[in-house]
Amino acid sequence: MATLEIRNLHVSVETEQGTKEILRGVDLTVRSGETHAIMGPNGSGKSTLAYSIAGHPKYTVTEGTVTLDGEDVLAMSVDERARAGVFLAMQYPVEVPGVTVSNFLRTAKTAIDGQAPKLRTWVKDVKNAMTELKIDPAFAERNVNEGFSGGEKKRFEILQMELLKPSVAILDETDSGLDVDALRIVSEGVNRVIASGDVGCLLITHYTRILRYIKPQFVHVFVNGRVVEEGGPELADELEENGYDRFLAAAGAAA
Ligand code: ADP
Ligand code: MG
Ligand code: MG
Repeated sequence: MATLEIRNLHVSVETEQGTKEILRGVDLTVRSGETHAIMGPNGSGKSTLAYSIAGHPKYTVTEGTVTLDGEDVLAMSVDERARAGVFLAMQYPVEVPGVTVSNFLRTAKTAIDGQAPKLRTWVKDVKNAMTELKIDPAFAERNVNEGFSGGEKKRFEILQMELLKPSVAILDETDSGLDVDALRIVSEGVNRVIASGDVGCLLITHYTRILRYIKPQFVHVFVNGRVVEEGGPELADELEENGYDRFLAAAGAAA
């Protein structure tokens, strides 16, 4: 049982026009076994939140805290965060020349667990996870992200999540660019991870489409760098029907 706690998080980036505050006091708690959706319009700072938790160097935390079971996540290096169990899909969007999917997964697993996985069970686990995600076995011998299609990248993300079993997984726009079949396969993978009960899932999305396949228990509406409303799945239904207008108007009035 792990708890990720975000308190009053303020984050800025340096732009050519100067310092720009993007996150303006985010409060959020995600426990392992829980599924949360963060929903907000484009440009509201959702990816910034994901990158900040993962430790992207471009994003400077100016105020607030992020802890995992009381440990200061913000004081950890990117690798330490991954080892502590914080997983960001898209953490490795770049190509890794000469490193195959198979090697990458084994190295990551070894780093996170602090010891190499038992070869026999590991090979079987990888094979099963790939079969369930309908990933071609030849994929394991390709170099990470080299020439991956959008759909292959997403499947690779879910494959990592299934095998690395993080405490908290952050999935940023996992639904974007997937056709209906791929979306279903990827969603089923996420649901398997959720059903294991060990992983807290933070699903970041602009559209409600993926929420037809993955059912969050908690929905947070994110506007203008902060959570402006929280509720259950019914909140996602309202967004599907009415969009973000009501929340944007309220945020505008408050600004
Ligand atoms: P979302 O994921 O909700 O679409 P982002 O977090 O990507 O929002 O971006 C929020 C705002 O911060 C946008 O106005 C975006 O242009 C700006 N922003 C994000 N990252 C950077 C960056 N590295 N440099 C400059 N501006 C950025
Ligand atoms: Mg504040
Ligand atoms: Mg984004």
